[in-house]
Amino acid sequence: MQKVRKGDRVKVVSGEDRGKIGKVLRVFPDRGRALVEGVNIVTKHQRPTQTVREPGIIKREAPIHLSNLKVVCPECGAPTRIAFTVVERQKMRRCKQCGATFA
Ligand SMILES: [Zn+2]
Repeated sequence: MQKVRKGDRVKVVSGEDRGKIGKVLRVFPDRGRALVEGVNIVTKHQRPTQTVREPGIIKREAPIHLSNLKVVCPECGAPTRIAFTVVERQKMRRCKQCGATFA
């Protein structure tokens, strides 16, 4: 089970985008990275291809390392470290700030 999951709100705690909060669009568990909306924007020079007709400069998110992220607790709204706990035989994530559990 991942600490950071798709759909989470996360806060960037280090690097250029420190302080930004965004939604997790995708997690890459094997690379230990996540794609976060509006975070770690890189500029790509797009050449025209068969699928992309318009050449030019496009901006898109690049995956950011999970160690730079903290999950924003859905209960207390604080960026927190995540613990794991078992509630009624289900593995849940637990906010280390307020103790709330969530899937
Ligand atoms: Zn909390």
